[in-house]
Amino acid sequence: MTPIPNLAPSALPVDAAEGVQHPLEPSGAEMRRLVEAALARIVSHVESLPSQPSLAVEGAVELARSLAEPLPEVGTPLPALLDLLFDRAIPASFNAAGPGYLAYIPGGGLFHAAVADLIADAVNRYTGVFAAAPALSQLEANVVAWLAEIVGYPREARGFLTSGGSLANWTALVTARRERLPENFLSGVLYASGETHHSVQKAALLAGFPPGNVRRLPTDERFRILPPALEEAIVADRRQGLTPFLVVGNAGTTNTGAVDPLAELAAIARRHGLWFHVDAAYGGFFLLTEEGRRVMRGIEQADSIVLDPHKGLFLPYGTGALLVQDGAALKRAHTVPADYMPPIQEDPDLVDFCEISPELSKPFRGLRVWLPVKLLGIAPFRAALEEKLALTRWATEALRAIPGIEILAEPQLSIVAFRLHPPAWKDLPAAERNRRNRELLDRINARKRVMLTGTLLGDCFALRICVVSFRTHQDRMEACLADIRAAVLEMTEMTGIDG
Ligand SMILES: *Cc1c(COP(=O)(O)O)cnc(C)c1O
Repeated sequence: MTPIPNLAPSALPVDAAEGVQHPLEPSGAEMRRLVEAALARIVSHVESLPSQPSLAVEGAVELARSLAEPLPEVGTPLPALLDLLFDRAIPASFNAAGPGYLAYIPGGGLFHAAVADLIADAVNRYTGVFAAAPALSQLEANVVAWLAEIVGYPREARGFLTSGGSLANWTALVTARRERLPENFLSGVLYASGETHHSVQKAALLAGFPPGNVRRLPTDERFRILPPALEEAIVADRRQGLTPFLVVGNAGTTNTGAVDPLAELAAIARRHGLWFHVDAAYGGFFLLTEEGRRVMRGIEQADSIVLDPHKGLFLPYGTGALLVQDGAALKRAHTVPADYMPPIQEDPDLVDFCEISPELSKPFRGLRVWLPVKLLGIAPFRAALEEKLALTRWATEALRAIPGIEILAEPQLSIVAFRLHPPAWKDLPAAERNRRNRELLDRINARKRVMLTGTLLGDCFALRICVVSFRTHQDRMEACLADIRAAVLEMTEMTGIDG
């Protein structure tokens, strides 16, 4: 250890009455004041989440425009900044952390993870290379190993935390390309169902493939890929001189939560020498439940899997993950040596994250997973996911009991898709039926207790209930169903029972 040099008093930060000499280095008392001032606002905000409106974006665009400003030369006192955030900017949004957020794929926002982020950011240790913080790198490696355990991967699996599922899908796709295609890869073709998340298409473009190299395959009546169509497409492309290299399976689509027949896809990929990737960004953590393991049987046969801890593990946004069964493949795809780098570990058990991922300097994301899981154990996460599955089943039965409601996608995990389609609307043009269902959605959301979103299933507009938030419980589902019933009644009264 180098001895700490004896600093001249003038080099020390002073919190003098006439002003702070080093404003970038708050004193201990100042640090406490900063955190306590923020904490007071944070705690009352989080405690009021259930009573906040599910969305409040009236006037939010005007507010956004009014906030544009040039680079400030001098500072503003913290209370004014906290007021701007907590009184004006934060409320003018979808209440994405609240229990009524049943839209898109809900995120999380575990408070324990926020505490971990404060620690990680404040200590700012470097976890891009093992040598710089071996023990902290190991904690992040533990997190990856836990995720590998959840999906049923062997010890040789490796992976890393990303900012989200989109980046993880992109890295998976590049890894598959590096493993299965020559340097000139433009004849490579990848296969996914038409229900696959658009981040896969985007990943293909970013990885250098022309849009035409992505095959979007048909699905069955439950929105799962049709394996025979996949096999036919592979054979036909190969006959054309193209190079099929990747199959993407879904473990929970964004539209309906559909789970492709993963074991069958694995067998086809194996038979034809293709990389098999599973996008489990939404569905993956349901593997903690018995039901989820049954539905996603075969997922452990995938060469790579994307998970989004900021969905099913209830973490704050900015936490995705990629796992690769053969960890060495990840290393082959990402290792580029440089003379100025510190030594890289030879021991295969010790992970240099920069060697297996696109990032070098990176946030210490591992801590926001590690701290909550160590603190609480995995049991409450499993229980919360079981609760989400049960709430979705309950909502589906309650929807079925509403006259005129048609279930368009029975839940495979925690999403149910439906529409209003009373017998009297049978002869309406499809566009008019869709318009009325969009209006139904607006009327449900206008009550501001829940926020639902819709999608197109084929050319049919569907409303979705997606239950992922750890804050959503039975009381909120009952409010949701009450608001749906009331909105349905308004629609049928308005259009008259005979359309
Ligand atoms: C959310 C989602 C993604 C994209 O993940 P981000 O974390 O939003 O980047 C990809 N695939 C599926 C199935 C998803 O639900």
